Amino acid sequence: MPSSFEELLASKNLRTTKPRRIVFAALKEAAEPLPTSEIIRRCPGVDRVSVYRTIDLFLELHIIERVAYGWKQRYELATPFRPHHHHLTCSQCGNVAELQSEELEILIRRIAKTRGFVLQRHTFELIGICRTCGSVKDGEPRGALET
Ligand SMILES: [Zn+2]
Ligand SMILES: [Zn+2]
Repeated sequence: MPSSFEELLASKNLRTTKPRRIVFAALKEAAEPLPTSEIIRRCPGVDRVSVYRTIDLFLELHIIERVAYGWKQRYELATPFRPHHHHLTCSQCGNVAELQSEELEILIRRIAKTRGFVLQRHTFELIGICRTCGSVKDGEPRGALET
């Protein structure tokens, strides 16, 4: 497995072009998964079409991965460019919290193993109401399920 982004591109006979480098850097600096519009905003030197093309290429090479957010998509760097993790996404305010859980990873591997399933990668996303949105002052928590 190539250890750097440049090496990975080189191993596919692809050059580290300016748009590729800038989009990668923008995602690397991001604290949370970004929608395409935000990636475009953070890459002022790169035209829109190049950003779209770079996102497609990065997805294909598994440099980035999709994070489902409602029916919209956000993107972030994939392993090994970022430590493996999952997300808890608030459906009210859009806040995204990272989740790293060795317990969860062990469970996922165990499930795959007992099914004779060769696991290549996995996604695991939690969508719900964050603590801030859940503790609303005026009455019932918004969007909470009936108890
Ligand atoms: Zn929230
Ligand atoms: Zn995981």
